[in-house]
Formats: sequence, C-alpha cells, structure tokens
Amino acid sequence: MAFNSEIYNDLEVRTDLEGFHLEAEGHDDPWLKRPATDCCAALLMTGRRLQCWPLFRGAERRGNRNDGEGRCAEARIRLWRGLIEGRFLRHQIYFSTGAVIIQHILLTGGAGYIGSHTCVALVHAGYTPVIVDNFSNSHPAVLPRLRQITGQAIACEQGDVADAAFMTDVLRRYRVQAVMHFAGYKAVGESVAQPLKYYRNNLASMLGLLEAMTAAGCRTLVFSSSATVYGDPHAVPMTEDFPRSHTNPYGHTKLMIEDMLASLCRADPAWAVAVLRYFNPVGAHPGGLIGDDPSGIPNNLMPYISQVAVGKRPQLQVFGNDYPTVDGTGVRDYIHVLDLAEGHVAALNALLEHGQHLTVNLGTGQGHSVLQVVRAFEQASGREVPCQIMPRRAGDVAQCYADPSLARQLLGWQARRSLAEMCGDAWRWQSQNPDGYRFGAPAAVVPSRR
Ligand code: NAD
Ligand code: UDP
Repeated sequence: MAFNSEIYNDLEVRTDLEGFHLEAEGHDDPWLKRPATDCCAALLMTGRRLQCWPLFRGAERRGNRNDGEGRCAEARIRLWRGLIEGRFLRHQIYFSTGAVIIQHILLTGGAGYIGSHTCVALVHAGYTPVIVDNFSNSHPAVLPRLRQITGQAIACEQGDVADAAFMTDVLRRYRVQAVMHFAGYKAVGESVAQPLKYYRNNLASMLGLLEAMTAAGCRTLVFSSSATVYGDPHAVPMTEDFPRSHTNPYGHTKLMIEDMLASLCRADPAWAVAVLRYFNPVGAHPGGLIGDDPSGIPNNLMPYISQVAVGKRPQLQVFGNDYPTVDGTGVRDYIHVLDLAEGHVAALNALLEHGQHLTVNLGTGQGHSVLQVVRAFEQASGREVPCQIMPRRAGDVAQCYADPSLARQLLGWQARRSLAEMCGDAWRWQSQNPDGYRFGAPAAVVPSRR
C-alpha cells in the first residue's frame, strides 16, 4: 500500500492505510483483536519528552517494543489534539486517521561495529534508526543482516558526514530527533603515522555534523568518546573527573571534540549532549550475523585472538608481561558491545527526558588481563590460542578500567554481560564469518578442534 503525505500540525505525516491493526495473532485478549483506531493511550508531557502510555493491555507482551519502564514506544493511539502539542519526542505515533509521524535517530557511522549494534538496540527500544556512512571502514552487507535481526529495513544514506549540506538534507528529510555520532577513524597506530588523516576526518565530520544539526534545528547528540582521553591514568578505577590528556592524534581528536561540545553547550543551552567514554568494546550480537570486522591485521586484542582461534593467524603476540598487574600483562575493562549499545539507548532516553550535557564512562568496572582474556576465549571457543610474549607496545598503559557508577546514577544503566559471553559471542561471529562481511551469507559454525 502506497504512503500518502499530508501536512499536519506543522509536521509532515504519512498515512499508512495498512497501519490500522495491532499484531494480534496468537493472543486471546479481545483488546488486541480490536482495530487500532479503537485503542487509546494516555499522553504525558514530561520535560522535553512525550511519553505514551498505551491503555490497551497486551502491548507490553509484545516484548521488544517496550522500553522496560512500562512505556510503549510504538503505540497506536487515538489523537487527542489538546494533549499533543510542542515537540514529539517519541519517534513514531499512529493517529486514529491512520496517519503516522516517524522521527528518526540518526547514526553517523552506523554501518560500523558499534553503530550497527546500537542500531539493533534502538529498534528493540522502539526507535527508528537511519544510518549515514561512507563505508570507509565498513561494508553495506551489514544492512541486510540488520534487517534479518530487527525485522526492519534500516534506512541508510551513503555519504560523508563532513559534508554539512548533505547532512542538513538528511536531518530534515528524516525528521531526525537526535544524532549518535560514531563516524570517525579509530586506529591509534595509524593516527600516529598519518595524523592529518585523523585530524581531517574526525574533526571535519564533527564540525560538518554540528553545523548541519544547527541548520536543521536538531540539538540532541550522543558522542562516541573514549577512555583514551584519560591518557596514562594516575590510578584505577577512573572516574570522569580524572585529568584528561592525549598520547596520540586519535586521542587528541576525541579530547578536542569533547571541548568543542562543552563550548557549544555553554553557548547555547538548547543543546543536549551525552559524551560517552567507551572502555574496550568487544563481542558481537549473539546471533552471529554482525560483529567487529577490522580490515587488515587487527590492532585490538579480541579480534586478533578470534583470528588466531579460527586459524587465520598463527599466534597472538602478547605485548609485555612485566607490568605491575595480576600476571604481568596489560589490564583493560572489556565491555560487551551490546551493553555499550544499551548504554547509548539509556543516554538517548536521558537526553530526551532531561536535556542536559553529561559525560559518563561506559565500562564494566572490572579489569581483565590479556592472559585472562586468552583463557576465557579458549574456554568459549574450544580452540587453543598460542601466545608469544613480546616487548611492551609503545604508548600502552598497565591498567585501565572504569568507575562506571556515574552512568548508573545518571542513566540507570550498567553493563550486565560477562567476559565469557563476550568471548562466546565474538567466537560465534568470527567462526560463522571468517572473512567478515566480505563473502556473503554467514557460513556454518566452525567445529571445535579440541
Ligand atoms: P568503525 O570503524 O567500525 O565504525 C565507524 C564507521 O564510521 C565506519 O562504518 C566508517 O565507514 C564510518 N565513517 C568514518 N568516517 C566517516 C565519514 N567521514 N563519513 C561517514 N562515515 C564515516 O568503528 P567503531 O568501533 O564502530 O567505533 C565507532 C566510534 O566509537 C568511533 O568514533 C571510535 O573512535 C569510537 N570508539 C571506538 C572504540 C572501539 O574500541 N571500537 C573505543 C572507543 C571509542
Ligand atoms: N594486546 C596484545 N596483543 C595484541 C593486541 C593487544 O597483547 O595483538 C594487549 C595490549 O597491549 C593491551 C590489551 O591487549 O594490554 C588491549 O589492547 P587493545 O589494543 O585491544 O586496547 P587498548 O590498548 O586500546 O585499550
């Protein structure tokens, strides 16, 4: 059925004549058998957020549409004109006329590792994502996989985030409610070798995006920062008020962007910005369809171990075993990428509700050494991971793990998944897709050699 466009209350709405009925199959509840036009909802404007409390029972039972706090993100509601005014802060509202307003959450770099997992978490929380990516470090094959996982086609615009005119057009066309900015280059070593490439892409894409958001009137942003802004920390665990510094151009771009965002929020309080300092994201969606797909030799520990386990590389080089840690190897705060993705949803909810400028660590609060990760991976995969001890890697710190209590306090979020789950999910992704996204459909699971 074709969509019709009309203008309603200064918002473009689309009429979906098929959008009238609830998904009622398999339920005895007579409320669910009714046409959506007979359902209603209580609407509540709290701060900057429109909450939608569906009065038809059963909505919660549909599981992934509920954001976990009793709010149903995709309620079909009767239009109560008096109550609906101001900004719509939930993305999708169906009217009794059959009209539907869809607002999107824009993910720059959404085809990449963290963006693609956040896309899944957003859909599960009831949001509608749209991706902008130039595929400089990702592959369009992620899109059908996202569709398979979420049951929805995810809109994607190919282009450069630094192009402010292009981004303004995307923000307007998709009625973007908020942006999550993942796009950027992230390889520390490469940033040392090619600093201008990093300053150009990371800073220009942030500036282009902020200019476009200003032009389009969208001022809600979640930014991917990193624990790298703590430089070489004087103690662990690290809290957000630790002094910041940088040891490489990549880290410098994150630090400069954090400062840029702080200036913007000071200058214009209409901006709502969450700076999320990630620790070490690892793992993959448990279905094995999406995951980390580094090009060339992996820089990071977990993808390297995965490639050794699957037989693509002979052994792991362990960089240093003389650190003052539990077994001499470096200690990091590994966090499951789905926990991280859920942290983004929590940050988005907080921004839409309270509209503030916040900076939080997203980590588990637990450190694991290189050898502990190797052992956990061997356990999860049933494969041996041969190791060779090497000298320390330049620029590495001995220990780095978060104090994540501020995120718990401000966002009501905390990481839930264990190191065993991180390794198990990373292995499923690697073994089902030994060459990442490059060769079509995932292969069968590689059998254990042990
Ligand atoms: P990724 O490389 O997998 O994803 C980044 C995506 O951005 C890629 O799809 C790439 O094609 C795209 N991109 C890059 N520049 C672009 C541009 N100018 N225009 C449009 N698209 C562009 O990286 P990731 O691991 O998903 O990281 C996402 C963000 O999180 C990055 O900003 C990174 O610095 C930050 N971060 C990552 C980690 C980590 O360990 N993965 C840790 C801390 C912070
Ligand atoms: N590491 C290692 N061998 C590798 C890659 C990493 O021993 O091939 C170690 C590294 O020295 C550090 C830890 O694993 O102690 C995590 O490194 P990664 O690059 O994944 O994250 P970061 O150092 O950026 O926190």
